[in-house]
Amino acid sequence: MPATIHPRERPGIINPIFTCQPAGAQFASIGIKDCIGIVHGGQGCVMFVRLIFSQHFKESFELASSSLHEDGAVFGALDRVEEAVDVLLMRYPKVRVVPIISTCSTEVIGDDIDGVVRKLNEELLPRKYPGREVHLVAVHAPSFVGSMVSGYNVAVRDLVQHFAGRTEPNGRLNLLTGWVNPGDVTELKHLLAEMEVDATVLFETEEFDSPLMPDKSGVSHGETTVEDLRSLGDAVGTVALNRYETTLAAEYLEQEFGIPTVSGVTPIGIRNTDTFLQRVKNLTGKEIPRSLVIERGRALDAITDVAHMFLADKRVALYGNPDLVIGLAEFCLDMEMKPVLLLLGDDNPNYDDDPRIRAMLEHVDEMEIVTNADLWELERRITQENLELDLIMGHSKGRFVAIDSQIPMLRVGFPVYDRAGYFRHPVMGYAGATWLAESIANTLFADMEYKGMKEWVLNVW
Ligand code: SF4
Repeated sequence: MPATIHPRERPGIINPIFTCQPAGAQFASIGIKDCIGIVHGGQGCVMFVRLIFSQHFKESFELASSSLHEDGAVFGALDRVEEAVDVLLMRYPKVRVVPIISTCSTEVIGDDIDGVVRKLNEELLPRKYPGREVHLVAVHAPSFVGSMVSGYNVAVRDLVQHFAGRTEPNGRLNLLTGWVNPGDVTELKHLLAEMEVDATVLFETEEFDSPLMPDKSGVSHGETTVEDLRSLGDAVGTVALNRYETTLAAEYLEQEFGIPTVSGVTPIGIRNTDTFLQRVKNLTGKEIPRSLVIERGRALDAITDVAHMFLADKRVALYGNPDLVIGLAEFCLDMEMKPVLLLLGDDNPNYDDDPRIRAMLEHVDEMEIVTNADLWELERRITQENLELDLIMGHSKGRFVAIDSQIPMLRVGFPVYDRAGYFRHPVMGYAGATWLAESIANTLFADMEYKGMKEWVLNVW
């Protein structure tokens, strides 16, 4: 089969890969310190999203709901938003940021969340909370367009638009990570620290890997502050890592403040991490130190140990967030693997023109990329079209496809809830390249032993 990209051809979604836009907006909001988002919709729009965050990180996060009921769904429910903001501010004296996130139902009925933000700013806040710094940010996240990926992109832009200002140059770099794990944030900060680059990270989510402390505090949140957000306009440059998750905010910063921006590199694998560091060097003038050359060499050595002998020609299916899937596919190709099926779970029209996708399609003989895909696309190809696969890479929602078809699976992306501690490991940077190569190899090794397939090779390796 030639390399192609095309949308899902059948109507209806069976086992979706993504959830809806408000989930992405909620993920952005939990990255900010002293912030609790209010989702203007039914309680389930928060309850299930919050559950999935907790399943993935094994932590608890705070999110609120306007808890729309039948009457509100027909006649409008802005009064519930007003009440929700008031209750939230009373209950949480430290809260400074309240994103108000719309949903499918409240967009359909036309509730004016921008208007209610203006009203609350003019009436409730000065009357009941005089002198208290409170930022209400309207985030439009109707779920009948886009996905959790575009919802994150929109929310980051809206938060950046609300806060970013310019005072005086601070010499820092804006690093917009996209929807990544705490392990990725740690690795990215490590790479920048080695280059002696001071960065404002959106979002500082390392604390999602929260310690158990003597005070028994049981809630996790990000550490990006209002002050961090305000300083974005003073930076020397912006690096926006995941094209589909950060581009809107990066474009805003470039247009509003003239900040040089590089957008769209996802530093998964050696090649993409090299590009990332080179771009940081170009923006900041800082050299790539020998310590990172050594780390790169160590990662290359780890990959060389397994690539040609165990990974070459292994056929892989991938699904999940588009930048993750594309970065993983590029890395698989670099390791001589064959990423034959890529499933992207929404219908973003820009996929067709993505230079990374175009480059892969031009250079491989067999690759099918399905947009607006679901997990049935994967299951159907395995069960009805005899698609041969050696490995599946994706989040835990596809686990039953892997289990039923007895194809080994490496969990990556969001959500991963059926393996312990995966959020702690990076897939980005040289450390991520090492972890990925070795985890792929170990997944295949376990399968070789389980199925008794050439497992003796492991004795003599
Ligand atoms: S699809 Fe609509 S109702 Fe369902 S969780 Fe998303 S926003 Fe809420």
